[in-house]
Amino acid sequence: MPATHYMALLLALLVLTLAGVVLGGHRRREREQREHLRELREREEKLRLALWASSEYYWQYDLERRELESIRIEPGRKDDLNLRIDLDADHQIHPDDLPLVLDRLRAYVRGDAPMFLSEHRVQDGTDGWRWMRARGRAVSRNDAGRITRIAGTARDVSAHREHERERRIATEVMHNMAEAVVVIDDEFRYVMVNPAFTRMSGYELAEVVGNDASLTNSDQHDAAFYAQSRAAMLEQGHWAGEMWQRRKDGREFLCAMQSNAINEPGSPHRLFVLVATDITDRRRIEQELRYLANYDTLTNLPNRTLLAERLSRAIVRARRQGSCVALLFLDLDRFKDINDSLGHATGDRILRMAAQRLQRAVGPSHTVARIGGDEFTVVLEDLAHAGEADTCAQRVIDAFDEPLLIDERHEIAITPSIGISLYPDHAQVPTDLLKHADTAMYQAKAAGRHTFLRYTESMDSSTRQRAGLIASLRRAIERNELRLVYQPQLSLADGGIRCVEALLRWYSTEHGEVSPVQFIPLAEESGMIVGIGEWVLREACNTLADWQRAGLPGVTMAVNVSATQLLHSDLPRAVERILRETGIDPGQLELELTESVLMAKAGLAAERLQFFRRIGVSIAVDDFGTGYSSLAYLRRLPITTLKIDKAFIDDLGRPGDNEDAAITTTIIAMARSLGLGVVAEGVETAEQLAFLRQHRCDMVQGYWLSKPLPAEQCLAFMLEWPGLPGLAPRATAADARHPAP
Ligand code: C2E
Ligand code: MG
Ligand code: MG
Repeated sequence: MPATHYMALLLALLVLTLAGVVLGGHRRREREQREHLRELREREEKLRLALWASSEYYWQYDLERRELESIRIEPGRKDDLNLRIDLDADHQIHPDDLPLVLDRLRAYVRGDAPMFLSEHRVQDGTDGWRWMRARGRAVSRNDAGRITRIAGTARDVSAHREHERERRIATEVMHNMAEAVVVIDDEFRYVMVNPAFTRMSGYELAEVVGNDASLTNSDQHDAAFYAQSRAAMLEQGHWAGEMWQRRKDGREFLCAMQSNAINEPGSPHRLFVLVATDITDRRRIEQELRYLANYDTLTNLPNRTLLAERLSRAIVRARRQGSCVALLFLDLDRFKDINDSLGHATGDRILRMAAQRLQRAVGPSHTVARIGGDEFTVVLEDLAHAGEADTCAQRVIDAFDEPLLIDERHEIAITPSIGISLYPDHAQVPTDLLKHADTAMYQAKAAGRHTFLRYTESMDSSTRQRAGLIASLRRAIERNELRLVYQPQLSLADGGIRCVEALLRWYSTEHGEVSPVQFIPLAEESGMIVGIGEWVLREACNTLADWQRAGLPGVTMAVNVSATQLLHSDLPRAVERILRETGIDPGQLELELTESVLMAKAGLAAERLQFFRRIGVSIAVDDFGTGYSSLAYLRRLPITTLKIDKAFIDDLGRPGDNEDAAITTTIIAMARSLGLGVVAEGVETAEQLAFLRQHRCDMVQGYWLSKPLPAEQCLAFMLEWPGLPGLAPRATAADARHPAP
């Protein structure tokens, strides 16, 4: 082979080898590049995944251009994860947060902080502001070493912050709640309590945590009660009710409690939240209100409301069993006088004692109620016959025979009047039973008090009659149906007639002659007594003026005055006017008032009486001895005369030692010591007269001397009165009609 050929072959071989080497190198590089790219993509994918999984953003901030580039990963349409790159030249931070962000940035740039850290709101394209938590570090600097670019991650913490806020509010609320909040685990051990619990129970959080919730159990419930509430919580996840609890100091309190189970995420165990309100006070107030609504606070007896309820129930039972119910309506006799004379405080004590005595008399199994001032009722159930009610009423009356003892020294004699109505005989419903028993009681009073009466239908007519009387009385003055009669009083010292009492009479067109005992109380109740009283005063003074003109000198006119007149009308003015109009000297007028009037409103009574005494009018205490005046009290009143009640005179002069004689002589002695005149009322016999004369009573009034007489007859009686050598009244024309004994 020629050398040239050989050279060419060698060259070709060399070229081939070179080409092979070059090609091989290229292929390797290509392979290496591919490998590198794959790794790069893998790494990028991992980063993308990591970024996606951490739900953070990646961001870079160019400090010179003020440009923010953010990269976030969003799931694509398939299973892939897309990269979203946003370039934001107008990055909006909430104006409130901006100063803080800038501060942080400056601090980092200055080198005061190792990293840029901030939590702030940024503008969200769609729905306003979102909270971001960003962290970052410098990633490039300029030649002068100044940071030009910061990069880092950020995370949307809006939901987290919202969550945190809710949690904070919840904690705060629980902390400040007035209700106790207790969290216990499913083995009923304390996990958490709030301050209200500590206030309520006295236990601090540290004292209870881990302890069994039975720590505050109270003895008010048995163990079964607590066991049931726990079982309900476990089974239904819920319990609500009222529960007594015991404080650390042993005091007990009542709670309204509600408990609910809450599931703990990721745990098979549950927690229970108990919310409790202390309702001890509320319950006490409720009980007090219920008590006030149903009981009388003075006597602690059931009141009208509870009576109505018990009576209804009694009637229902009786209807079912075919038995009988009795209602006793009891009113204390003359209680008003006691109240007026002894004062309301004593009156209240008497009512309390009367209530106790009544309850004791009827026994504990019957309902005794107080339905008004001095009005009580008794419900008697299961009666075999009506007679049992009478027996019970009598027992009550007997129980009051013994006086009530006040302060262990004052004896107060008080008697009841009782009306009885029966189911089913008289009424079917409580209101009617009550009405009928009341009517019967009223009749018992009318029949002289201190007794009981069973209701009859005719009683209703008497109540109607009472209403009729009041109506007629209203027209009595204008119809000229009133007149006065006069009863003389004899002076035992000189046998002369010194005084005459004016007594009112009513002859009604509809009702005939009506006794003042009957119509005066009606006139007082209805207020008519003021007008009638003025009429009486004027009429009596006119009569006296007539008598004086007819030649009768030196006689005083006594006029009865009721409480209403003295206390509730301008009596002084009326008296002055009438004296002026009739020309009667005030010294010839005497006003008669009963004890109860003087003791009631003692201050006002005394003041008005002073006025009368100043102008010279005399004051007599009528029916003395029946009320409760004390001697010490009388001494302070400007009175001139005591009139001993007829009740004490009746038995005088009868053989044997009697109490009335002792009382009468005491009253006479007492009156003398006080410088008062004494008149004995209702003197009917010579024996009574002799007794009174012997004991130096000043004056007597009564049938022995004369019955009350019309004006002219009384004048004649007095003009003819011969005086008193032997104290025997001379037979006169008047005696023919009212023969002296
Ligand atoms: P009083 O003021 O105590 O009057 C005495 C009452 O006893 C009178 O009854 C009189 O008729 C009666 N009486 C007098 N002597 C005897 C007697 O020897 N035996 C008996 N059995 N009774 C005698 P009267 O007139 O029925 O008056 C009853 C009460 O009515 C009076 O009691 C008085 O409280 C009241 N009254 C009468 N008139 C008036 C009046 O004008 N105004 C006021 N506010 N009350 C009056
Ligand atoms: Mg009188
Ligand atoms: Mg009298």
